[in-house]
Amino acid sequence: MKFNTVLDEVKVYEAGKPIELVVREYGVAENDIIKLASNENPYGTSPLVTKKVQELAKNMFMYPDDSMYELKEALANKFNVESANVVIGEGSDQVIDFCVKAKMNENTKMLMSKTTFAMYEIYGKQTGCTIVKTPDDEHNLAQFSELYKEHKPELVFLCLPNNPLGECLDKEDVYNFLDEVDSDTLVVVDGAYQEYATFKDAKKAIEPADLISKYKNCVYLGTFSKAYALGGMRTGYGIAQKEIVKTLHKLRPPFNITTLSLAAAIEALKDEAFVNDSISKNFDEMKRYEEYATTKGFSYIESYTNFITLKFDNLYISADVAQQLLERGVIVRDLTGYGLNAIRITIGSNEQNTRVFKVLDEVLTSLEKTENL
Ligand SMILES: *Cc1c(COP(=O)(O)O)cnc(C)c1O
Repeated sequence: MKFNTVLDEVKVYEAGKPIELVVREYGVAENDIIKLASNENPYGTSPLVTKKVQELAKNMFMYPDDSMYELKEALANKFNVESANVVIGEGSDQVIDFCVKAKMNENTKMLMSKTTFAMYEIYGKQTGCTIVKTPDDEHNLAQFSELYKEHKPELVFLCLPNNPLGECLDKEDVYNFLDEVDSDTLVVVDGAYQEYATFKDAKKAIEPADLISKYKNCVYLGTFSKAYALGGMRTGYGIAQKEIVKTLHKLRPPFNITTLSLAAAIEALKDEAFVNDSISKNFDEMKRYEEYATTKGFSYIESYTNFITLKFDNLYISADVAQQLLERGVIVRDLTGYGLNAIRITIGSNEQNTRVFKVLDEVLTSLEKTENL
């Protein structure tokens, strides 16, 4: 069968491997499996949210409030904007898709960092547009600036902090770049991990209200999937000038968030203590990974997120490390597909991380160092 030819270039997104697969394929007991491949919050969901979802389960026969009034109000309050500045997506993933569809077609260009969130490129290619990437893996604004001038892209993605590498640009540098971008280019600032970055270093903090009032061509994206621990509820949002939000709404399918997802997100916003506690523990635990890497003689990228990217340089082959970990029930993300000899590990709970180090010890001992091969 013939399909739309733009799809020939589209890769299928490779999600972190689910626990069920490791049980099935490697016979590891479900309770022994640690999933650190999708940057989920290891502390589970706030008890307030669980209670609310249980209470509302009886309402699931009803369509949700398609205006999403209450959630938009709550987000508008939190971020000091108006409801009309907010669009809700089935995960911020869906808002990325809206932004891409709002700007792109075969005759347009999109600019992004070489190693960044895979969905930007996937949604882009679905429109047949041209993708321009910086030569450096990590965000390099000098390169963004040069390529911006050369290509005049219709859409620019900045992932702050960046997934899958964990680095984060300073707000001041981002603003200096935005000063150079003209008003008809849409710039998406993906803040999926902003809660973490803001906690670690105030210089990284981007306030959506400030961003969109200074730069009327920007969309700020946030999600409930990471710090708010609601990955399974698929809820994210975009914040932008009303004119942009109005256009994004034309692309939104009706009832794109479930009744329970809406309630969960509203409730999660009321429990900031849970979020702050998760973030604080995250960075305590991250130190253990940094120390571990240093002890073992490999490097890591300083991270402003809830994951850390370990680079094996010429010591080990990352695909082997990831596979060996998987067979022992520890699921991580191998970055070979990005051309890097590295793995990305979500920072787990204290107990999980202790086990990860033990299993990693075993794996590294069993794998010969590549330099000895
Ligand atoms: C996780 C993530 C998202 C979106 O997640 P949703 O679950 O769709 O809200 C967006 N951008 C980045 C960089 C992410 O890591």
